[in-house]
Amino acid sequence: MTEECYYCNREGTTDEHVPPKCLFPEKKDFGIDYRKNLITVKSCVEHNSKKSGSDENLRQILVASPFNNDVGLGLVRGKWARAFQRNPKYLSQFTSGGKPISYQLTEGAEYQEGLMVRANLDDLDESLKKICAALFYYETKEKLIGTAELFTGFTAYLDEEVQRASEYAIETVRNYFSEKTKKGENPEVFYYHFKFSEETIVFYLVFYEYNEVLVRFNRVKYL
Ligand SMILES: [Zn+2]
Repeated sequence: MTEECYYCNREGTTDEHVPPKCLFPEKKDFGIDYRKNLITVKSCVEHNSKKSGSDENLRQILVASPFNNDVGLGLVRGKWARAFQRNPKYLSQFTSGGKPISYQLTEGAEYQEGLMVRANLDDLDESLKKICAALFYYETKEKLIGTAELFTGFTAYLDEEVQRASEYAIETVRNYFSEKTKKGENPEVFYYHFKFSEETIVFYLVFYEYNEVLVRFNRVKYL
């Protein structure tokens, strides 16, 4: 019998990498194997994120983040730069409406120059929630259904109050998991933690060591 899709009741006819494989550099580019034991779940065609194009959106936003470690930066200089060279229109689309800014990565650190660009955050949120649903299915064989609240530490929220709430929530969850063993075989690219109770499931995802995501699901109650 074929296994069901991690996200719906259809047949899982494809393998979905969690998170997307395109985030993990190829050995030929880095000389290091960052694709050790990648996690996969069964997925129907509709819920396979590679086929929907949302993998590419997630990768673009992540590699544009100022918080990347050397692996993330390597992707910017390698694959991403080559994609832009091949298709300059793609670069102008990505940076259109961008605002030059000076920013500090941490308080008291040196100011750096950058470009603030608008991102497709709805699509980003959707992919991150799907990653959590897939990880949850991988861990528990249960499907994750419910509404979710999500904060990304590598995007700037225009609403200052939301920005502060996001920083506080992420710091809290970072401290909570700080002593726990990281889940994921390639922590320089991605690792995660999660905890759940009957009402909520909390995920803490980290990409390229410093790009943090907090997702809090409220489980749907069945009567
Ligand atoms: Zn599906």
